[in-house]
Amino acid sequence: MYDIEQIRKDFPILGREVYGRPLVYLDNSATTQKPKCVVDAITEEYYSANANVHRGVHFLSQKATELHEQSRETVRQFINARSSNEIVFTRGTTESINLLATSFGEGFMQAGDEVILSVMEHHSNIVPWQLLAMRKGIVLRVIPMNDQGELLLDEYERLFSKRTKMVAVTHVSNVLGTVNPVQEMAATAHAHGVPILVDGAQSVPHMAVDMQEMDADFFAFSGHKVYGPTGVGVLYGKEEWLDRLPPYQGGGEMIQSVSFAKTTFQGLPFKFEAGTPDYIGTTALAKALDYVSAIGMDRIAAHERELTLYAMQELGRIPGMRIFGEAGRKDAVVSFLVGDIHHLDMGTLLDRLGIAVRTGHHCAQPLMERLGVEGTVRASFALYNTKAEVDALAEGIRRVAKMFGS
Ligand code: PLP
Repeated sequence: MYDIEQIRKDFPILGREVYGRPLVYLDNSATTQKPKCVVDAITEEYYSANANVHRGVHFLSQKATELHEQSRETVRQFINARSSNEIVFTRGTTESINLLATSFGEGFMQAGDEVILSVMEHHSNIVPWQLLAMRKGIVLRVIPMNDQGELLLDEYERLFSKRTKMVAVTHVSNVLGTVNPVQEMAATAHAHGVPILVDGAQSVPHMAVDMQEMDADFFAFSGHKVYGPTGVGVLYGKEEWLDRLPPYQGGGEMIQSVSFAKTTFQGLPFKFEAGTPDYIGTTALAKALDYVSAIGMDRIAAHERELTLYAMQELGRIPGMRIFGEAGRKDAVVSFLVGDIHHLDMGTLLDRLGIAVRTGHHCAQPLMERLGVEGTVRASFALYNTKAEVDALAEGIRRVAKMFGS
């Protein structure tokens, strides 16, 4: 039994009102709300176990270090990585990708080398590679998609050349909801001797991910999108790759010894974790992963699939509705426009009805260009959303459309 009422009680914010109406929170792709156990874990650690990690011999430092390293193990289990050495804590997906682009670019790329991306990438999986292009003269190749929002895998194959050094592709589109066949794409990349980075920002909250099955070389995700705190995320990397990559940032924690003549670095994963980590954040992230694991990722996925199908059906009935993204495998996101109503007007008026959606380009301007629009309205679902909330959204859209006479 998926006890939605009980689940909703775990998220105190869902009980609040906005503008005198019950909150309908459908901006989960941007960030998710937090269960009480995650917020409590933050307070509890500050109150009872706060000390800087890895450095102290004293009781509290050892306690905080234990919690921090246990969290790394929780993440390892959650994504089924082989070793906790493969789990690098970062500030989020964006930092994970910047780390990889910088380190990999430094260690393994020359002018004229190529990176394959897709047309549906979030800016955070485009701009770090462009910065590298500016620094090193590397070239970006882009996988196109069809009108349903599915990547063209034949075209993907054709993009490989002798100069291809990396594939970097999103697991799930934050605009279209398309679930890309990353396992198959990883196999193709490997057949060409090329590693692959998968941006898991929008998949980790919605489905079970298994690093050994997916066989991606690198995988990035953010804590705050999976019911954890802001400011903490993960870069997974296969040990054989991470071992060979140069450090990203320099500072405390990541060194073995420092002299003015020579510095030697720590082993994995500490080589990539310069400075004091967000050890309170990692404890809270582990709590969030424990929370979703206790419900079951497969049950969460089934619940959200049902909601998404229901939303596609109900919104699809509204006159003038255009839904973007109708891939065969689609995740918990519905992007749309109605008639010629501007996305910002729709979002602002829905907000007045208590319904939180996102409007604009969703940090995916190249995708907007491909779709031929400047922006969309996006409703995105989480484990706590209900069909009644989808009904409220559909009803809200109809009201707004009526105001605009469409
Ligand atoms: N990648 C995708 C697909 C996203 O949807 C997002 C955020 O919306 C990001 C990357 C960036 O995540 P963060 O801002 O948490 O670093």
